[in-house]
Amino acid sequence: MSDLDDFLLKLPKIELHLHIEGTLEPELRFRLAERNNIELPYSSAAELRASYDFDDLPSFLTGYYDGMRVLRTEQDFYDLAWAYFEKAAGQNVRYTEIFFDPQAHTGRGVAFDTVIRGLRRAQLDGRRLLHLHVQLIMCFLRDYQPEFAMATLLESLPYREWIVGVGLDSDERGNPPRKFAEVFHRAREEGYLLTMHCDVDQENTTEHIRQCLHEIEVDRIDHGVNILTDPELLAEARRRRIGLTACPISNGWVSDGLKAPEIKRLLDAGLKVTVNSDDPAYFGGYVSENLAAVQRALELTRHDLVRLQRNAVESCWAPPAVKDRISAELDRLC
Ligand SMILES: [Zn+2]
Repeated sequence: MSDLDDFLLKLPKIELHLHIEGTLEPELRFRLAERNNIELPYSSAAELRASYDFDDLPSFLTGYYDGMRVLRTEQDFYDLAWAYFEKAAGQNVRYTEIFFDPQAHTGRGVAFDTVIRGLRRAQLDGRRLLHLHVQLIMCFLRDYQPEFAMATLLESLPYREWIVGVGLDSDERGNPPRKFAEVFHRAREEGYLLTMHCDVDQENTTEHIRQCLHEIEVDRIDHGVNILTDPELLAEARRRRIGLTACPISNGWVSDGLKAPEIKRLLDAGLKVTVNSDDPAYFGGYVSENLAAVQRALELTRHDLVRLQRNAVESCWAPPAVKDRISAELDRLC
């Protein structure tokens, strides 16, 4: 192992773009299917993994939603989250904000309460047993109607203290941020922080980023690397210190590459870009593998890797004490 690999392993990390349903590894999917008496059309976890063949966002989403069918009970959601937390703690992740997609579950008859209680219990155990600080971000599915998102937002209010913010994901084509303006306005009134996906190389991506910044007034943007094509938006995001949660290995599956040069340009331009894993069970890389992929592609230095983590400290939604603790750890590395 090179000195830099060793450094990367030990680096205290933050993960800000992680769909918990996207951490469902084939082995766990088989275990949950068996527990819930669900038949899978594959003979083994290896065969299932080999079947992953995504070349754009819609083809990925088809497999992603199909995978979730095995998640039925509170314990299933606990086990899903716990498996990810153990993995993250093993990669020296200190703090993570995880997305969950309640509509993908309530839409097939699993209660919101079931989903969130499983995640919440895992979150508390993660802090106690793994010293991993976790917060939850509830995402709305943008290919559904805003009325469904609003109903989900209202359904979340009894659990308001368990959820730090709201996001927007799923198929971006024809589903601009503006479609959910009212939902996000209400979410802001309820005290949620706001983020939205602007996936890489999507139709009208620059306009979607503009709507996020100027109409929805988000606190962060997920992906958003196409902001480089618009100097005005770039300047605005820099001025407002908006975090951009890039996901290089995911980009490699659904676009023409990792977008590593774009990530470096954003970093050097003073944008609050971070490196994350998106849906690691499907794309084959957790946060360490994503950082390693960018490091190799760009020959990043230790200093660059620390800068990425400092960006994550600044743009994350952790309590000040957690931010201070991770910053102090990063200081000791330099
Ligand atoms: Zn995502």
